[in-house]
Amino acid sequence: MSQHLPCRDRVPLDDPLELHPLPDSTSWSGSIAYLDRDGVLNIGSENYVNSPSEVILLPNVANCIARLRRSGIRIAVVTNQSPIGRGYWDSENLALIHDRIQNLLLREDKDAILDLILHSPYLPNQNAWARKPNPGMLEAARQLINHAESAKKWSELSMRFAGDWIERPSEADSVMVGDRLSDMEAAKAFGVRSLLCPEEIGLSAVINEIIPPEIQ
Ligand SMILES: [Mg+2]
Repeated sequence: MSQHLPCRDRVPLDDPLELHPLPDSTSWSGSIAYLDRDGVLNIGSENYVNSPSEVILLPNVANCIARLRRSGIRIAVVTNQSPIGRGYWDSENLALIHDRIQNLLLREDKDAILDLILHSPYLPNQNAWARKPNPGMLEAARQLINHAESAKKWSELSMRFAGDWIERPSEADSVMVGDRLSDMEAAKAFGVRSLLCPEEIGLSAVINEIIPPEIQ
């Protein structure tokens, strides 16, 4: 599957991924929180989020991401971004939007690091494997994070998709959070538990279903 691959900001999909250490020397549990972006991290819009200045984080999301990482869970954002395919703006604009999201998160909590962001620039009618409700972005995220956590060389990475990917790691303790049916369908197709959050609340609405509440 060479066409319609998921995309990363500013680098090719299989570029080496440098993961920041988890907080307080926490070791990785092997779990990933796959997070949709709009309606989960930040306020979405029918007309898209078109510039860094339009980014507004949802309440308490930085704390939620930090808590996930303190619990040994890696964060992978998986977001459909058809405005790129529609020619409204380019991938560098999206990268700047993601820089803004990351900076706002870090301003609220230094542990609120997004380990990986993948996007799908394709149009709905292209039926890309990398566009939700298909699971291609989740497949790529798992393989990139697993490889980054392993001692293997990046030249040994051979990403596989759909039926070509046979030996898959367990997603038993992972989760996909989204605000749309297409997010839930992508999670089902991938084989990971899904949680639907209200778009006006986002990740904090479901955080206690992923990790136990913090002791106050
Ligand atoms: Mg959404």
